Amino acid sequence: MLSEEALERLSERLVDRIEELNLFMINKLGEQIMRIGTLTPTQLREIFQSVKYGNDLNEIISKIAEITNKNVADIYNIFEEVAKKNQIFAKQFYDYKKISFIPYDSNVELKSMVNALAKVTADKFNNIAQTSAYAILNSKGDLEYTKLSEVYQKLTDEAILNVSTGRETFEQAMKNTMKELTSRGIQDVNYATGYHRRLDSSVRMNMNDGIKNLTNELQRKFGEEFGANGVEVVHHIYPAPDHSSKEKEGWYDIDGKQFTNEEFKKVNDSLNRQVSDMNCKHLTVPIILGISEPLYSEDQLKADKEANLKGFEFEGNHYTMYEGTQLQRQIETKIRQYKDRQIGAKAINDKDEVYRCQEKLDQLTQKYKNLSDVSGLPTKVDRLRVDGYRKVNINKSLYDDSSDIRYKYSTNEIISKAKDITTNNFYEKTKGVKIERLNENYSYYQPYTNKIYLGKKANEYSLIHELGHKLSFNFTEEEKIQYNNILREKFSFYKKSDFKKIESKTGKYWVLKNSDGFITEYQSRIYDGFRSFVNGKPNIKYAYEYISVGIEYYFKNPRLLKNTDKELYNFIDRMLKDE
Ligand SMILES: [Zn+2]
Repeated sequence: MLSEEALERLSERLVDRIEELNLFMINKLGEQIMRIGTLTPTQLREIFQSVKYGNDLNEIISKIAEITNKNVADIYNIFEEVAKKNQIFAKQFYDYKKISFIPYDSNVELKSMVNALAKVTADKFNNIAQTSAYAILNSKGDLEYTKLSEVYQKLTDEAILNVSTGRETFEQAMKNTMKELTSRGIQDVNYATGYHRRLDSSVRMNMNDGIKNLTNELQRKFGEEFGANGVEVVHHIYPAPDHSSKEKEGWYDIDGKQFTNEEFKKVNDSLNRQVSDMNCKHLTVPIILGISEPLYSEDQLKADKEANLKGFEFEGNHYTMYEGTQLQRQIETKIRQYKDRQIGAKAINDKDEVYRCQEKLDQLTQKYKNLSDVSGLPTKVDRLRVDGYRKVNINKSLYDDSSDIRYKYSTNEIISKAKDITTNNFYEKTKGVKIERLNENYSYYQPYTNKIYLGKKANEYSLIHELGHKLSFNFTEEEKIQYNNILREKFSFYKKSDFKKIESKTGKYWVLKNSDGFITEYQSRIYDGFRSFVNGKPNIKYAYEYISVGIEYYFKNPRLLKNTDKELYNFIDRMLKDE
């Protein structure tokens, strides 16, 4: 027979995959929000199709299918595992009655019964997976559900709408949406009744109910074979009060008790919550009355019951041990929630929320630890674990800390080095930009919020490069005309067939197959969009990197820039050199 812990561990495998799916979704949605946030409304109009129907959607759909298939396969495996254990447990009774039994592996009838029961749980899981959704409060304060397969498109629509209507509202709206998605997590929704609960809880309950049902059914079958005439409700520690006392109507003390088959049916029918249903941890095993010794002695049952009622004091309240376990489960759920929220906040660079969640997590973890210390109840660290969660030290600045090992150079270091090697004029022309850190391998400039995001490996030249982007948004009218002439001239030699298309993690773009006239291949980049090429010629509106690589090399290797692109060098030199 499997212990309560062993049973729980079996379901955790499936729950872990649900969490994996949740994190995958959060990160994909976060990436999409960030991507849309870097676009101007004009860019957005032009590359609308490729943003809206990127590769992500297919990836999400196949991820959902992958997780569902793995979990369904596991349900069949777990049921077999449990069935074998059950048969081993029943062997003693067959032996006692001197009846032979067919071992599981060659027992066709038993196998098909186990399969049929596994199918019930697998079907239910499939159902749950299909109806699962993210929930967001709408403006009327009602929960609105969006199925997993649709949430990416819906969020994309919302982000595009927000970018187009106003920059200030964009960030706030996206922060709120991300918070909603991550605090509720994926929900199992009954669309007919409106009833919903977290998908992880739902899967856990489906599995536990399925395995308990399997155990009960198998034991009943074995009991019939070896001639059982009663059942024992297997004692477990700290049972719920409705199965271990008689204080109310529909409550009964059945914990660890033996019954004749008829008695048991009567008692079970009179219970508000039947044995093994709805989070009840009781199992039943068939027995031969008068012969089968109870699995637990009277003394043991009495001692456990007294320990449960004695309970403990916590934060000024008395709890039975059972109530203590319920409180533990509540705190565990909250901890997972805040970890999810923090991961979502990180994905969209919402650092206030990152701190808020960390504060809350530190409090909850302390409370969880105190509760366990005071009550002596074992912790379930498995249930607190969220892959992808990383503790943030709230006593230190998250983004500007040189001791943070995520970053090769601290932000202050990068800024001060960049100041040393650039001109005053460059500094004046790029003043006022805000700098944040990004836990990624790339850096970028976001024109609306006037923010530069520096990646993990960023150095002073990465900053100068991004400042180059910023500068190109602030050209004077005269500079704009001069620059566009150089840019047009430069790209006029090339046609579409000279370019190759690149699809990378950060987006799609084109670069010259032979970029000899450029400082780097990167400088020849044309971003992919609806009108990247017009009449077979590159659209210079998409050649964002030409100026920023130019400015970067003006300070990094001026001679190279001068030799490769005299026009661009002269333009930058006129614009940036100190008088
Ligand atoms: Zn129970």
